[in-house]
Order: sequence, then C-alpha cells, then structure tokens
Amino acid sequence: MATLAAAPKPASLPIHQTQLLIDGQWVPAKSGKTFDTINPATEEVIAQVAEGDAADVEAAVRAARRAFDEGPWPRMNARDRGRIMYRLADLIEAEIDELAALEALDNGKPVSDARAGDIPLALDTLRYYAGWADKIHGQTIPINGNYFCYTRREPVGVAGQIIPWNFPILMTAWKWGPALAAGCTIVMKPAEQTPLTCLRLARLAQKAGVPDGVINVVPGFGPTAGAAIVKHPGIDKVAFTGSGETAQIIMRQAADGLKRLTFELGGKSPNIVFADADLDAAAVGAHVGIYLNQGQCCCAGSRLFVEDAIHEKFVERVVEMSRKRKVGDPFDPATEQGPQVDRAQFDKIMGYIESGKREGATCATGGKRVGDRGFFIEPTVFTNVKDEMAIAREEIFGPVLSVLKFSDMDELIRRANATTFGLAAAVWTRDVARAHEVAKRLRAGTVWVNCYDVFDAAAPFGGFKQSGFGRELGERGLDPYLETKTVTVSLS
Ligand code: ADP
Repeated sequence: MATLAAAPKPASLPIHQTQLLIDGQWVPAKSGKTFDTINPATEEVIAQVAEGDAADVEAAVRAARRAFDEGPWPRMNARDRGRIMYRLADLIEAEIDELAALEALDNGKPVSDARAGDIPLALDTLRYYAGWADKIHGQTIPINGNYFCYTRREPVGVAGQIIPWNFPILMTAWKWGPALAAGCTIVMKPAEQTPLTCLRLARLAQKAGVPDGVINVVPGFGPTAGAAIVKHPGIDKVAFTGSGETAQIIMRQAADGLKRLTFELGGKSPNIVFADADLDAAAVGAHVGIYLNQGQCCCAGSRLFVEDAIHEKFVERVVEMSRKRKVGDPFDPATEQGPQVDRAQFDKIMGYIESGKREGATCATGGKRVGDRGFFIEPTVFTNVKDEMAIAREEIFGPVLSVLKFSDMDELIRRANATTFGLAAAVWTRDVARAHEVAKRLRAGTVWVNCYDVFDAAAPFGGFKQSGFGRELGERGLDPYLETKTVTVSLS
C-alpha cells in the first residue's frame, strides 16, 4: 500500500501518447479526426485521441506486412526475441505506479486493483511468453518409407488484435505475448473507451527494442477501424475479445479471406455453493466472483447457485458483504469499486436491474445509482430469481448478482449448463469426489474449485459454446499464432 500513496493523482498525470503508432512513427489519423476519452468517475474528458479508420489501418497493415515479410522480427534468433520481451516487461514494471494511475483514470477501476492485479498479471504474461520464444519447435515423425519427416512451427503472419475496455493493459499483454513470441507482427485496436494504456505500452515496446512495424496501434471505433482490420487481405489472423454480437459480425466479415479467428466472448458463469462448503471462503468467492472489476468480467460468477439447506443464511452473508462494499473514487486506496466504464454500460446495467424487478425477482440490496456524477452503481443482489428471467440468462456485465436455489445434483448440472455461454464456473464443497464430478460435468472452459478468478499466465483460458473458441494463455495460447509445416525429405 505504501506505493499506492505515491501513485500520481489524475490532475498531475501526464498523457504522453494520443496518436497512432504506425511503422515506428507516432502520427495523427489521416483524416485528422480525434475522439474524446472520458474519465468515468467524473464524466470529464481526459484527452483527445487520434481516430484511426480504414486509411490508417491500410498503412498499419502495410507496415506490419513488411515487418513480417522482410523485417528482422520473425528471422532473429528466437532467444533475442525473448530478451526484447523481457525488457518490455521490465520497462512496464518500472512505470507501474503511473500505468496503474492511467488505467484507473481511463477505465475507472480502483488504482489499487490495477496496481495489484492487472499489471502484475500482464507482466507475468509477457515474461511467460518471453520464455516460450526459444522453445517453440516441431517434431520428427517416423513416416513409412525412406524419408526424413519433420514439422516446423512457423508464425502465422500479421495478427489483427481487437480488445475490449475492461482490462486494457492485461488484454494487451494477453494478445501481444503469444504473438510476439511466435514471431508474428501486429495491428492492434484498443477499445474506444480506453485507448491510453495500450498506447503507452506501445511506446515502451519501442524503447525495449521491438523493431518498427512489429507493433502498430490504431485507436478508433469498431465499425470503422475494427472492421477495416478484420477485412484487410494483409491480415492473416484476427484475435478478438469482446461481445458475441461483434464476434458474429467479425466472423462473417473474415469469411472472404478465410482468416484464422480466435474469440474470447461473454459468459453467465455459474458459481455453485454446496451446503458442506467452507461458507466463509464461499461467501468471499461469491462476492469477488461477481464484483471484481465492477462486475465487468467476462467470467463473472453472475449466477450464484446455493443449496437450499443453507440458502437463507448464505444469502444473508452475501447481501451483508455487498452492503459494506466501498464504492467511490478509484484513486482512494480504500475504494473497492469504481464507476462502470461509460454511460452506455451504465444504462444497460440499470435496464437489467429494472427488468429484474419487473420480472418479479427480489432486489435484496443495491439497485440504484451512487451519486449524480460518474457511472457508479450500487452492488446489487437479486434473490428469488427464476432461470427464465433475463437477469439469469443474459450477460449484465455489471455489479448485479442473481441468486438461484437448488436441491438436487442432476437438476443443478442441467440448470447450470442451460446457457448459451460456457466460459467459466466454480464449485464450493468439501467433498472431493463431488467437486471433480461437477468440474467434469460443467460445460465451461475453466472450472474453479473452492476458489474464483484464479488466473495464471501458464493456465489456458477460453470458452466452450458461444463464449468463444481458441485458448489464450499457457502453451495452448501459442497455437493460434503458429502454422505447422510438414517437411518430408527423400533419403533414397
Ligand atoms: P463491448 O460491448 O464490451 O464494448 P464490443 O464487442 O462492442 O464489446 O467491443 C470490443 C472491441 O471490438 C472494441 O475494441 C470495439 O471497438 C471492437 N468492435 C466493435 N464493433 C466491431 C466491428 N464491427 N468490427 C471489429 N471490431 C469491432
């Protein structure tokens, strides 16, 4: 906490990068246009950022293409690529206080969360993949006949990377880490709500020695800059994190070029508490599971299934903890919850709260705006929720928990899986056999047992069903950035 006190305050925070990074140059948008990025805690403009569109994407792809087809990055010693990535991580770490403050300013998350969570995880990711750079190799294969057959793992080419606003620094690291290690070059579009930290990381990448054209950043809007990346024939692969609706558009637009796609999308994750669980730990897990990052997590434990024997008592605890959660200024070290990222998200969440009330659920706590400036919402718990209500089916992406009661294991599994999503799930129980059975039967890419939101750069993350495809993190996270080439040599 000592370092937190030293974190720069919003007014004194320098905003260095607001332009596009193309081929190693910081340039305005060709159209000359800019857009405002807003501080969600005050609704004030932080900075004007260059608004890239198709013309800028054209230049960025040309640079990334050249850097891939002719430049040093995919050709240098793999270990040297790794060293540059380690250097990038070190430079980020050296600026951790300022970066955490910039993230809090642009996104609204508590500076303490960015400092203790987002950035350390981003550093881990970059270092983890830096370590992979010289460990990506193929196999020798004993095929029939007098041949020597081997595989090479080669970079897929130019990666278009489109990220959301909920974890801007972390999502940048998740995307750059495997792409850089594999030897790909990048055209990235940060979310229009939160472009500032991605731009700062791009500056640090230059300082670390990433060659010109390897990382290009084009801030702008989805239907213009984003769509131009997806459609551009010079892009080999698109990695996208965001909503399912946008993913569907991207999939259609990427069809012409048969682009490789990876998607990390939404969720409506079940968080299941059996009566025999450590209820203190489970209550914390329910709380963190829904409220982390103002509820703006794709893996939020937004459906809390509680076994009927403990339902009343457990819900009381969850409600009590929600009431005590400290909502306020992201720069106050005591703050646990900041504002939602923008007015659109705020309105959407308030709409779901109204729909929960209208459909007959009980709003046990919260449900209202906090203050009259900034997009703050009270931690909200709905009880008496029915499976068919919108608040039990749709992703709210805010601090709104739906509590459901269960009694029978088979019925529980059926209901927990009765969703189009399949990103994450958790189960709380002291019965080891039951924990593994539930983990096996849940259709989700991640299952936490007696914990929640445990992430590690080495552990793959991604969705079943409409929560996406492909995996990020871990060894599997490299796969989408690699092609496998088979070489067969006649020895006759
Ligand atoms: P959210 O609802 O969380 O903002 P979106 O899917 O709308 O999620 O946005 C995630 C990212 O996708 C952002 O960077 C956004 O600009 C981008 N995006 C939105 N629409 C498109 C599109 N049609 N093509 C490409 N990218 C898009």
